[in-house]
Amino acid sequence: MKAVAVFPEERALRLVDHREPAILAPGDVVVRVLEVGFCGTDREIAAYRMGAPPPDSPYLVLGHEAVGEVVEVGSSVRRIRPGDLVVPTVRRPCRRETCRACRMGRPDFCLSGEYTQRGIKEAHGFLAERFSDDARWLQPVPRELREVAVLTQPLSIAETAIAELEQVQKRLPWAALGETGGAGKRALVLGAGPVALLGAMALVVRGYKVTVYSHAGRGDKAEFAESIGAQFVTAD
Ligand SMILES: [Zn+2]
Ligand SMILES: [Zn+2]
Repeated sequence: MKAVAVFPEERALRLVDHREPAILAPGDVVVRVLEVGFCGTDREIAAYRMGAPPPDSPYLVLGHEAVGEVVEVGSSVRRIRPGDLVVPTVRRPCRRETCRACRMGRPDFCLSGEYTQRGIKEAHGFLAERFSDDARWLQPVPRELREVAVLTQPLSIAETAIAELEQVQKRLPWAALGETGGAGKRALVLGAGPVALLGAMALVVRGYKVTVYSHAGRGDKAEFAESIGAQFVTAD
């Protein structure tokens, strides 16, 4: 099966013949890749500034933002069926018994630092014809979101930040006013990269009055921000 991989030792990036994924455990799922997104992390990996292959491989298959279609599921998988659209998550838990975060299924809080990340750190990514994974790391996506589903992973970064800021804001005595239309909810998004613009969209949907601030001048990004109802402010 074809895959695109980076060889950090050789400082090379090329098409490889990668092993075909298979159901190896009852909870496994095999997915046919439909789309893979690229971001700044991929650029860094392709410039050999970050990223690490699995210990038993000279190369790392790229790709951590993907959407695919399920082709096969293991005998214990109930939540996902062949034909479903799925988006994989990126980080996988470390093996330390003492890592409370990973043992609770929250490798995003891994305490040992020995977590892996598909397509980034010691685990192959999704820029291949197919991949397999445990069903718990796959999120089913409605068919009607097919066109934009590949943006789920970068959106999840903005969504995590918004969930945290909303939790923090709750401690403020006037927080409830925003909910009742008092002062209104206002948000400032610093930067106008893809994750920032996804975050601005998520905030607009939540009813915030959004300002996007960028050091870059007006251009496509300003137009986009204004098209979703946000205000664009440039340092230019
Ligand atoms: Zn990314
Ligand atoms: Zn851990």
